[in-house]
Amino acid sequence: MATTICPEEQCTGCAACFNICPQECICMVSDAEGFLRPEIDTGCCDDCGFCKRVCPVLNPLIFNQAAAPEVYACWNRDEKIRFQSASGGAFSAFAGHILDQGGVVFGAAFDNNLVVRHRAVHSSEDLGKLRSSKYVQSHIGHCYKEILNLLRQNRKVLFSGTPCQVAALYAFLGQDNENLMTCDMLCHGVPSPGLFSKYLEYLEKRFHGKLVDINVRHKCKGWGLNSTVAYFSDGRKRVLTGSDNSYMYGFINCLSLRTACYRCPYTSVDRVGDITLADFWGIGDLVPFRHDKRNGISLILVNSEKGRCLFAEGARQLCFEKRTLEEARHKQSKLSGPPAKPKNRRYFYDDYKELEYVELAKKHLVDKGLKGVIKQVMPRSWIFYLQKMRRGKR
Ligand SMILES: Cc1cc2nc3c(=O)[nH]c(=O)nc-3n(C[C@H](O)[C@H](O)[C@H](O)COP(=O)(O)OP(=O)(O)OC[C@H]3O[C@@H](n4cnc5c(N)ncnc54)[C@H](O)[C@@H]3O)c2cc1C
Repeated sequence: MATTICPEEQCTGCAACFNICPQECICMVSDAEGFLRPEIDTGCCDDCGFCKRVCPVLNPLIFNQAAAPEVYACWNRDEKIRFQSASGGAFSAFAGHILDQGGVVFGAAFDNNLVVRHRAVHSSEDLGKLRSSKYVQSHIGHCYKEILNLLRQNRKVLFSGTPCQVAALYAFLGQDNENLMTCDMLCHGVPSPGLFSKYLEYLEKRFHGKLVDINVRHKCKGWGLNSTVAYFSDGRKRVLTGSDNSYMYGFINCLSLRTACYRCPYTSVDRVGDITLADFWGIGDLVPFRHDKRNGISLILVNSEKGRCLFAEGARQLCFEKRTLEEARHKQSKLSGPPAKPKNRRYFYDDYKELEYVELAKKHLVDKGLKGVIKQVMPRSWIFYLQKMRRGKR
């Protein structure tokens, strides 16, 4: 028989319980919406209670900072790294510093089947795998246990992930460690791995090929959330628009997020990580900003003394400017509370259980406004032509 640990509606799938269980009788299983959820095999459980003690939902972490965070706009000096990153490439600067010190960096990467998993990176050659945002919940696996072992060997570790994952790591460790640095991010929420894999299957059928990579933050049209690029094993590369980019429609419109994301406690300026990574949307709106934004600008919040040291070291690889919290908040709703739950979110995941991806997308993941309807019926070549004309005019 199997049972769960925290209330289903609030479970973030952070996997702290999975990592702590001494009997290894907790599995992370896919639930009906395709999200990862812990499940206890009561057959082998001796009721030690460790899982309940480390659960950040049952024992909310107190992480109020002494002072407001320092705010920076940053961009990587290496334009190639900046282009490959979701925002301005700040993460790579901090990660590079840790690797130079002989440390280990943990972050989210695609595996060979395009499943997003947290993994350890030991060299700068492998850092590229962690770069850019994969907007789906990652599998944590046994990362927290691995980190504990590395800290016991006095190794430096940088862990980056969503705030609930960073909180879970601290809950698992039970205490801070001077060799551990953490980067959280301003998080919009996570769609389910099940939905993402259905979407990839749809793309493979639609384009008659095997996907080898996908980038939902490609910068071919500049810095934003408007370009997904899919790469196929035969060398083809496709820029996905309209219904082919419907997965991002569900993400941006908060339709496909985990239930717990709509009551996320990490959406304020009280941050759980030493450094917070984000996009500096709207930079220049309130106070002039005189640098090129096309390849992305990172918003960095420095939240702790350890964060200050890491920022000082990583900043050698960055161009940066000190900015204000007011500017950071200007276009960042994720500093002021969780996303609102759309009324049709329940119907969306009800249909997810029943429908093929193509049907699900047709029913829920289309822009039903006038612009969206025109886009649906207009031939693709016309859309490209009009987009090119608009870019030319700017
Ligand atoms: C699910 C999700 C939602 C986000 N929501 C927002 C938002 O609402 N507003 C905002 O300003 N920024 C958001 N971000 C952060 C933003 O997209 C960039 O990741 C961040 O600005 C860092 O960019 P970078 O250029 O410094 O480095 P990059 O190289 O782009 O950063 C990559 C980092 O992101 C981590 N990462 C990638 N995918 C995942 C994942 N699935 N789960 C956990 N970690 C992951 C990697 O481990 C790596 O540390 C979100 C990121 C994710 C993953």
